[in-house]
Amino acid sequence: MTETEQHLRIELAACYRIFDMLGWSELIYNHITVKIPGDDEHFLINPYGLHYSEVCASNLVKVDVDGRVIDDTPYKVNPAGMLIHSAIHKARPDLHCISHLHTTAGMAVACQQRGLRTDNFYSVLLHNQVAYHDFEGLTVSPDEKQRLVANLGDKQQLILRNHGLLSGGSTLAEMFQNTWALQRACEIQVAADNTGQALISIDDDIANRSEELLRVQRSGMAVGELEFAAFKRKLDAQDTSYKL
Ligand SMILES: [Zn+2]
Repeated sequence: MTETEQHLRIELAACYRIFDMLGWSELIYNHITVKIPGDDEHFLINPYGLHYSEVCASNLVKVDVDGRVIDDTPYKVNPAGMLIHSAIHKARPDLHCISHLHTTAGMAVACQQRGLRTDNFYSVLLHNQVAYHDFEGLTVSPDEKQRLVANLGDKQQLILRNHGLLSGGSTLAEMFQNTWALQRACEIQVAADNTGQALISIDDDIANRSEELLRVQRSGMAVGELEFAAFKRKLDAQDTSYKL
């Protein structure tokens, strides 16, 4: 195993534990994947059957973009998860990391006809950045891959209608930040809708300036680096068994 792969295994295992810490795990389902740099187009995924809190560097499973397990491992991978992640890793080499969530807020917004509205502080920052994919049932049919990839287009954020959320990033930290941003925007939309009060819309002019305003706020920092590092420190203070 290369040093790069070992490093990615530790980073990805930390990410699974952090997702769980944030309440984003779903029984033994859902996935976060990271591509291993190189010509082999291999990526790492969680072993099917383990809870996010049990994922560690050594039990992550290495698979190829067609979903075949490369490792000598006792674990299997989840066919539905493999389909989504392998399709996107294959079609979008710029997205090194992908997450998929079944959070209550994410699924609730995915069920709404208008999807994510740009009427809250976080959702307006995602103006024009979210793609949508219509529901086709459990994602186990290979012919859904092309529609999934076509619907994602060149975006990093995808709402799977009636289903859940998907976020990608060029690094693990960027994927983490994108996941957090989409999840948080959905949480606020659901909470605002639950007040039953009339909501204040946000002008298109402001929504259209979101990208520019975000650039100013980030002032050249790599997306998500500070945020992911902060959560890793929080995790390390509690439990470092993810490194095993
Ligand atoms: Zn799903």
